[in-house]
Amino acid sequence: MVLCEETRFGPSGNSKIFYEQGNKTSVQMPKWLYDMGLNAYEYSLTRGINIKEETARAIGEQARLYDIALSVHAPYYINLASPEKDKREKSIKYILDSLKVASWLGAKRVVFHPGSCAKMSRKTAVERAASTLEQIIEKARTFLQKGMFLCPETMGKINQVGNLKEVLYFCSFHENIIPTLDFGHLHARGLGAINSKEDYELILNSVEDAIGYERTKVFHSHFSRIEFTTGGEKKHWTISDSQYGPEFSPLAEVIIERQLTPTIICESREVMAEDALRLKDIYREKLNLFKNTNI
Ligand SMILES: [Zn+2]
Repeated sequence: MVLCEETRFGPSGNSKIFYEQGNKTSVQMPKWLYDMGLNAYEYSLTRGINIKEETARAIGEQARLYDIALSVHAPYYINLASPEKDKREKSIKYILDSLKVASWLGAKRVVFHPGSCAKMSRKTAVERAASTLEQIIEKARTFLQKGMFLCPETMGKINQVGNLKEVLYFCSFHENIIPTLDFGHLHARGLGAINSKEDYELILNSVEDAIGYERTKVFHSHFSRIEFTTGGEKKHWTISDSQYGPEFSPLAEVIIERQLTPTIICESREVMAEDALRLKDIYREKLNLFKNTNI
């Protein structure tokens, strides 16, 4: 199973400058990203699924033309752990609808937030989310057979379902489920947990122990600097806001040393594409260093 043979970088959504330069629609994004030197793009359905099939297919065509790997971010209001059956059923529908949009786009990955613990115990919330996920897998069978992937995300607030262990547990349900490792979120919910290369190594060791190398190799990822409080995530910042962690360069080293080929999506506010390029530059610098010292 090979999903991508190179580490890819791109933004979540569209940078402010994309519009300032006179662009009007996401159909123009693949070429814009290609011209910038990027090769991934996460299409955001986070505030609702209202893209027309025709538009999605047009974006997909452009993405294939310019070799941009597409993914989709499902709505924020999905909650697989909701105590209300009706809300869980709606969440199943939103994920299936996101898969449908992804198939129009030719996107292979659908990222989603598992849900909230609210006033339940973690155990109850996780088990409820797990049983909803089982229903999703059943209903999404044709999409998964076509090689599409569900990508539960590690979440930044402590009260959300989606610490690393929980996300890896969800990944154990089907081989077409791979984690979205949001390193900013892991840093925030661990109250500043990522401070060294070793911290990244430990995270990736857990991933590999749980799902094996093949799937670890192609993990999906979100990266941005993040501010946190005692409850975890507070706010995403840009790469220039260096007072907030985590740092990308030790992660780049681990990715290179382990020969991983993840897709790294940058979620910096307003400058997501510009910052994705900065991440890519750091990665390439590390890659050149690695090649020079390993000849
Ligand atoms: Zn997300």
